[in-house]
Amino acid sequence: MLEIAGVETFYGNIQALRGVDVSVEKGEIVTLIGANGAGKSTLLMTLCGSPQARSGQITFDGVDITRKPTFEIIRMGIAQSPEGRRIFARMTVMENLMMGGTTADPAHFDADLEKVFTLFPRLKERQGQRGGTLSGGEQQMLAIGRALMSRPRLLLLDEPSLGLAPLVVKQIFEAIKQINQEEGMSILLVEQNAFHALRLADRGYVLVNGAITLAGTGRELLARPEVRAAYLEGG
Ligand code: ATP
Repeated sequence: MLEIAGVETFYGNIQALRGVDVSVEKGEIVTLIGANGAGKSTLLMTLCGSPQARSGQITFDGVDITRKPTFEIIRMGIAQSPEGRRIFARMTVMENLMMGGTTADPAHFDADLEKVFTLFPRLKERQGQRGGTLSGGEQQMLAIGRALMSRPRLLLLDEPSLGLAPLVVKQIFEAIKQINQEEGMSILLVEQNAFHALRLADRGYVLVNGAITLAGTGRELLARPEVRAAYLEGG
């Protein structure tokens, strides 16, 4: 469904991605792990066309999207829950979800909203509350819910567990699993929390300094000594 081949991305003269190859098949959860500054967010942003890859190719459902503008990529069915959540702080929970649904067919709005509220009952309880006053975990639920409202075929999640307490992290990962299992949605998950993210994943990749150094099933990667040493120590 998604094929990233030999992608290189630069910020001016600084090379952030070095020939990255990553694929996501329909219905898969694929996890990309890497330390701070490895290029994880850059890869998700490159997928969405900003910044664009300087070389390499990204195809989605057989269509070359490497040079497409962001709005077209989103319209094709890719949605991102960005790092730091980026919810609209002054808008209510409901208004944030409505913003997420603006690119989808309005005929599906009520049913999609119900799905998000079933997944995250907390959002239903707090639908009139302003986004900026939600807890960190609730904001993360809202960021994911907002992305789901656009009815994506591929959901991109950038560090959904960042800064959250262990119990909340568990809830968020449970929800991700549910989205994948019940909707059959394909998910590309970027995380520093390697343990949870790889346990959940069908397959995973390790990104170091802008290059993929390891690839395998979630289980295989969890068992690799270099993954354990670099990403699981103390975790
Ligand atoms: P983190 O987990 O800390 O968010 P990351 O793996 O997502 O890290 P990126 O944010 O993709 O890493 O950054 C990759 C590299 O690109 C870093 O060296 C970073 O300093 C650089 N970089 C990111 N954004 C920009 C920018 N707008 N201008 C210049 N350099 C940038």
